[in-house]
Amino acid sequence: MTELLYHTDSYVQEFEATMTAVLSEERSVILDQTAFYPGGGGQPCDFGSLTIDGVVYVVEKVKKQGDDILHFIGGTSPLPTIGSVAHGTLDWTRRYKLMRTHTALHVLCGTVFRDYGALVTGGDMEPGKGRLDFEFETMRGELVREIEVAINKEVEMEREIRVKILPREEAFQIPDLIRTKINLLPGGITHVRTVEIVGLDLQADGGTHVRNTNEVGRIHVADYKSKGAINKRIYIEVE
Ligand SMILES: [Zn+2]
Repeated sequence: MTELLYHTDSYVQEFEATMTAVLSEERSVILDQTAFYPGGGGQPCDFGSLTIDGVVYVVEKVKKQGDDILHFIGGTSPLPTIGSVAHGTLDWTRRYKLMRTHTALHVLCGTVFRDYGALVTGGDMEPGKGRLDFEFETMRGELVREIEVAINKEVEMEREIRVKILPREEAFQIPDLIRTKINLLPGGITHVRTVEIVGLDLQADGGTHVRNTNEVGRIHVADYKSKGAINKRIYIEVE
């Protein structure tokens, strides 16, 4: 079982960990703890490196498998052994941009729900760019400009972002979480991680976020598209 450092502190860029398993065929390693985000909830995985006994292994892919996080290491150098100590370093430029993009999408989601009552049906992101699909019957260019103004106002309000890990029963009492389909969580999950943009948005979410909307910077609505009668897609970009 890997301890997820990014769950309680998204700003960990470097960490020390002990190798608990090595899967030689696929060249992946499992650590007792990690700051590498394995991907999920629309946020892609982190890249970076693991330095073990002076050898630098490039982390090319990260994946969650049960309670473990697999770090896929490139190259052909001999694999490290179980028990060795690794120094992990994230590609912070990529990760921080993903944090700003992910928070920007929550600002969009919270604002559109508050102002128009529209729910999110899907989404995706890459560093600096993202999209959300909304249940929105009509969307015109004018409305999109209105949304762009509103989301940037939220950024400028310097709203704090709080992450909590709550017992399942407690999370189920929060009305705001019900709309983000918390009830679809598998029965075995005992705790729910919540990400709150104070005063704007509250979601059950496993991703990494910035501490304050002022770190997001200006959000640009790059495009919008109709994806069927009631689904509308909004594309955003952060600098
Ligand atoms: Zn999210």
